[in-house]
Amino acid sequence: MFGRNPKLPPEFFDGKVLKVHSIFYTIQGEGPYSGRPAVFIRLSGCNLACSFCDTEFDLYESLELEQILDRVRDVCRVSNRNLNKRMLIVITGGEPFRQRIGMLCDLLIKSNFEVHIETNGLLYNEIPNEVHVICSPKNNGNGYYKIRDDVLRHTVGIKFIVSSSLEGYSNIAEVGQSEIGVPVYVQPMDEYDEEKNRSNINLAIEIAMKNNAMFSMQLHKIVGME
Ligand code: SF4
Repeated sequence: MFGRNPKLPPEFFDGKVLKVHSIFYTIQGEGPYSGRPAVFIRLSGCNLACSFCDTEFDLYESLELEQILDRVRDVCRVSNRNLNKRMLIVITGGEPFRQRIGMLCDLLIKSNFEVHIETNGLLYNEIPNEVHVICSPKNNGNGYYKIRDDVLRHTVGIKFIVSSSLEGYSNIAEVGQSEIGVPVYVQPMDEYDEEKNRSNINLAIEIAMKNNAMFSMQLHKIVGME
């Protein structure tokens, strides 16, 4: 969180056991599926350490895929979810592609879940075609990292986080979105400072209107959810 996490390399083991930080039921608060109830599987560790990162993901349990599926079903049951209805699962992090997640995606899809992945677009390993990816590109100090072609193939939305004070994050850039024609979202950075946040909201609105992009707020935070 806030860039204090270690930058961790990819761990491409066989994907039968994954390092899981938490599994919880919430409202997807950002991007193309904002407002949709979803079970989040937060995987541990990230290959980047962004100074504005608002997520805790260092701690983890090593879980087998069946254990992850059991926990997802438990969360659905506790939440009175009708398991006959297709539920959305969001695999996030940290950076979820740091681990081999293809088998988990397969298992979830076979178990009648819809699967989305949230990524920074720098890592990839094979996932089923049905999986939708939402990518939030990051700046390396000299401009935005381009999104990998294999990630772009699955990408349904690109989300830029903007700040009026943090260098490198005060505009959006071409990271591959034109090629695939997906919607671009502009979201104000949460800097845990009322004045800065107000200014970030104004900037995000201005950029969205100038670029005909979608304005996005972190809905889950506004309503006080995880
Ligand atoms: S890429 Fe995302 S999860 Fe990783 S440190 Fe940056 S903001 Fe946090």
